[in-house]
Amino acid sequence: MVVVRAAKRVWAWFFEERNCIFQVFYLTLLTISYGVLVTEAWGSLGLGDQIIAAFFALSCAGLFFRVSLADPGVITLANIRDQQVYADHDALYPRGRVCRTCKTIKIPRSKHCRVCDHCVARFDHHCIWVNTCIAKHNYNAFFCFLVTNVCGSAHLVYILCAYFIHKMTAKIANAHDLSRDFASQVLTEIISSPEHARVAFVASLSIGVWFLVSLLLGCQMGRVVRNCTANEHFKRQRLRKDHAEDDPAPKRPVALDMAWGGVGLVDEVAAQALSVDDIERNPYDKGVMYNMRDAFDLGAKDKSS
Ligand SMILES: [Zn+2]
Ligand SMILES: [Zn+2]
Repeated sequence: MVVVRAAKRVWAWFFEERNCIFQVFYLTLLTISYGVLVTEAWGSLGLGDQIIAAFFALSCAGLFFRVSLADPGVITLANIRDQQVYADHDALYPRGRVCRTCKTIKIPRSKHCRVCDHCVARFDHHCIWVNTCIAKHNYNAFFCFLVTNVCGSAHLVYILCAYFIHKMTAKIANAHDLSRDFASQVLTEIISSPEHARVAFVASLSIGVWFLVSLLLGCQMGRVVRNCTANEHFKRQRLRKDHAEDDPAPKRPVALDMAWGGVGLVDEVAAQALSVDDIERNPYDKGVMYNMRDAFDLGAKDKSS
């Protein structure tokens, strides 16, 4: 039992409390990736690729700190009037609720983040990688951070593949066998040799980062266009499920929500009393241009509120 309790405590510390472990992990991977590039392959790059690599390394680090340190849009008694800019939504944001911790009214599109322990305006999700809420004031930087990571990892994959192909070309230049099979055998030997293990590791890591962050960016782009936050997406998913069942499903554990980027538990709503239209209605979707201005905090005004 002691082991189970200890395991639960460690899990909670990792995923349900604010801590910098994933921030340190990200910065370590970023440093290793560009460190290996500089020490192993920098000389083989053209000036253009060197400038692009330096730009992405600095942009990833800069945006990481910008997202991590910016005020995401914390709601206080002093600023709650200014934050109250969105229309009501009976299903997602029932009127008249008060946050028991912050003692403020739960305004539409806000949420109390259990990890950070504060209410935030236009809450999207809590991101463990930057150790903060992604919400009204830092969503734009977060989106740019995703774009930069996708482009930076794609560029790393490209230059490291070019590095390996350059090595292969040099090796087979004087060989008599110019068949494709021989070339691919030489390439495989180069990639798997201990001498190039670090470059191969960074190339594999970059492929993984590119794939996973592209998926996340695709989800975020779809939500920006529809003006639907991750929090609203998961709330609707939960309400649809409850609405379809006579006996509402038990709440998902926090851990599962954390796996999706730390979206907290869905607030209690009597889903059975709501119609499908109530759940699906999206008063925040006012066309792509407005939706983008709203998501990126560019001064969009919701006139219906
Ligand atoms: Zn609160
Ligand atoms: Zn948070």
